[in-house]
Amino acid sequence: MRDMFEKGNIDENYIRVPKDELFSFIVRVLTKLGVPNADAEIVADNLVMADLRGIESHGVQRLKRYVDGILNEGINLHPDIRIVKEGPAYALIDGDEGMGQVVGYRAMKLAIEKAKESGVGIVAVRNSNHYGIAGYYALMAVEEDMIGISMTNSRPLVAPTSGIERFIGTNPIALAVPTKDKPFLLDMATSVVPIGKLEVYRRKGKPIPEGWAIDAEGNITTDVERVFNGGALLPLGGFGELFAGHKGYGLSLMVDILAGILSGGTWSKHVKNTSEKRSDVGHFFMAINTEAFLPLDEFKERMSEMIREIKSSKKHPDFEKIWIHGEKGFLTQETRLKLGIPIYRKVVDELNQIAEIVGVEKLRVGE
Ligand code: NDP
Repeated sequence: MRDMFEKGNIDENYIRVPKDELFSFIVRVLTKLGVPNADAEIVADNLVMADLRGIESHGVQRLKRYVDGILNEGINLHPDIRIVKEGPAYALIDGDEGMGQVVGYRAMKLAIEKAKESGVGIVAVRNSNHYGIAGYYALMAVEEDMIGISMTNSRPLVAPTSGIERFIGTNPIALAVPTKDKPFLLDMATSVVPIGKLEVYRRKGKPIPEGWAIDAEGNITTDVERVFNGGALLPLGGFGELFAGHKGYGLSLMVDILAGILSGGTWSKHVKNTSEKRSDVGHFFMAINTEAFLPLDEFKERMSEMIREIKSSKKHPDFEKIWIHGEKGFLTQETRLKLGIPIYRKVVDELNQIAEIVGVEKLRVGE
């Protein structure tokens, strides 16, 4: 059997949990809190996908934030998600403060339906909440053999280039594209890292790599507590310099413009945490029906050919191979479907505290 690939440094501090158990745990917590079963399953699917793909920052470790949001009444459990206006190829949605995943799922479905009819479907969303990984929605389009684009704004955590104040969001962008094999999936924050990665380091009590963030005075720091204590993340492409990062800064604003300004919602400076009332997160989705441009087979073949070419280009001797976006995630997913999803022990403890507070069965970890 060939070696199994897995992202991250998984050691004895992690416990493997089967995917189905993690999924049912999330559903039992959320439904006990009053989330309708179908909606709880969408949220669970999104969080489990993140953990399966090795995105620890946005997997089940985020459940606490959603639970806090529900307990603080910052999330509307029975939202009236409504189309404010629409045309054959576009729509504007008001999420009515629903769970971001539920609003996002409905909005992307609508974008896909419109792309089936019109070649392209664009849906802007206002008044939603944190929606988890951007790639989840982009991949929904790939399931229909379309190109998917997904973006969301988020609360201010990043300093603009030359600034030291938290002013813009980590505003992620995802692009998913069908190929002859596994999809291409670029799914990334527009800051060097999302805040969830700092949460992972904080839980492990480790310093963060230099170049990710600054402290309140604007000094580059590796001390995660200094970042949480008034510091800020740096925009993508900054290489640890305060005066670089202008490309990530621009991409973050692009997301705010499409998801926040265009939707009639708000932009990062004013976006709030999920646990607060009316966080007013905005999203932007696009589905592109490739068949409106090229026959599907030809499109996929061209994608696969481009990827083959890149992967067979000359590589540096220190590296095993040239990767394509999404590839590590899909391999990690294969491994975790077989071995179970590694969850950090402190996260398991936190999940079990949630189970106690809410009054549901704890996570079955098989130990
Ligand atoms: P990463 O830096 O981990 O990965 C970014 C992209 O690069 C992925 O598509 C990844 O694919 C790809 N990749 C990684 N290594 C290579 C390589 N060597 N060659 C080619 N491609 C590579 O992502 P981030 O930490 O920036 O973001 C993590 C998640 O956080 C995302 O899912 C994002 O949507 C989410 N997020 C959500 C926010 C929100 O408010 N809802 C805010 C910010 C982030 P692969 O998956 O295969 O590794």
